[in-house]
Amino acid sequence: MDRSLEELELIVRNRICSVCTDRTVHGECGLENPDECSLFRLFPQVARAIQSTNSDRIDDYIEAIRKNVCAVCRNEEFDGTCEPRREVRCSLDAYLLLVVDAIEEATGRKFAPLAQSGNVEIRL
Ligand code: SF4
Ligand code: SF4
Repeated sequence: MDRSLEELELIVRNRICSVCTDRTVHGECGLENPDECSLFRLFPQVARAIQSTNSDRIDDYIEAIRKNVCAVCRNEEFDGTCEPRREVRCSLDAYLLLVVDAIEEATGRKFAPLAQSGNVEIRL
């Protein structure tokens, strides 16, 4: 199913912001500067990375995000580390499973409910 980038972003915003711990009780983004949210600041790259990956392994999506999004994100250091990621402050990293699921569902693809990351198995 073809979706415009704007449609996809709206779907992901509805899905992720509603569960994000940075959301205020009034339903707004609680970041001092909401434009700092890496998930939406780099949404075109996020959508492209997810849509160009077709796998039932979350590790493949993580790899695509690291390669296509983190690599151009201003928060990533030269050695590939990222302070917001380490401190669980990047909503893209923290909610990646949900982001992948939302985009796959919105575009008519099926992300297998069993996702594996390292030794941890996660069931959606
Ligand atoms: S930090 Fe990002 S995901 Fe969280 S509420 Fe703000 S815009 Fe939404
Ligand atoms: S994990 Fe770090 S480098 Fe990757 S998008 Fe988030 S803030 Fe940027």
